[in-house]
Amino acid sequence: MILVVFEAIAVSLWLTKDNLFYLFNFSYIGCSLALGIFLFIRKYRHARRVVQLLVGLYMLVYLGLIQNENMQIEGFWYYLFTGVFEAATIHYAVAKIFGPLLFGRGWCGYACWTAMVLDFLPYKVPEQPRKKLGWIRYVTFALSLAFVSALFLAHAENMERIMFWAFIGGNVLYYAAGIILAFAFGDNRAFCKYICPVTVFLKPMSYFSLMRVECDKEKCVSCGKCRQVCPMDVDVTDNSRKRKNGTECIYCLECVRNCPKGAL
Ligand code: SF4
Ligand code: SF4
Ligand code: SF4
Repeated sequence: MILVVFEAIAVSLWLTKDNLFYLFNFSYIGCSLALGIFLFIRKYRHARRVVQLLVGLYMLVYLGLIQNENMQIEGFWYYLFTGVFEAATIHYAVAKIFGPLLFGRGWCGYACWTAMVLDFLPYKVPEQPRKKLGWIRYVTFALSLAFVSALFLAHAENMERIMFWAFIGGNVLYYAAGIILAFAFGDNRAFCKYICPVTVFLKPMSYFSLMRVECDKEKCVSCGKCRQVCPMDVDVTDNSRKRKNGTECIYCLECVRNCPKGAL
């Protein structure tokens, strides 16, 4: 199913944009995800990490560093302001704005190159209760918008080059903040929960996600194991859209793997 969706995107963009790159790009991502699903079905423990590395490294190293495409939020604002539906605008439309209506925050679990590194840290399950710091994401979101707006208002020259260096600087800042927060709060995903500006798009869209982890109440014995292993503090036993931290689910499937009754 996932492979079909990505192939449909690949072929439509290839034909409408007359650019073979889109066929390669979305086919590669679709195949990586399909491989991950295959490995998960075969019960390979690190299936998600394999996909995360395949897609994350491709986007960071090939698209970001070699092709000089700023795929971070500043790159999205940049392409949006120039009115071009290319690179970061397509990436945001597919992975972070409209895609989450179908596959929620699959991006955060299987593709993000920031989380790809943070997930190597030792705090896979949060050691402290969640903090009320989610407001910081709106500040970083506003700062990214203000930064690119200021460049346009100042008629900055050589914007492509500035965007490349903004990509490098932004990533260094994200990694530094993510690692410091992970150790400070005993939580690998603290950056995702409190700082990441992309969640301003991801959270409301994933609220309506078609794909969800659901709980079979007939099988569930309320042991609480699923909540203990969840990196994002989701109450997955509640099937309503309003489940606690429901828009945080990254489909890591740790809850599914650990449920002793196969209820998820
Ligand atoms: S919340 Fe942000 S940093 Fe975390 S995985 Fe999602 S996009 Fe990446
Ligand atoms: S781990 Fe399974 S049985 Fe236990 S509370 Fe969660 S869904 Fe229910
Ligand atoms: S453990 Fe389950 S509920 Fe928590 S983020 Fe992973 S898939 Fe979602």
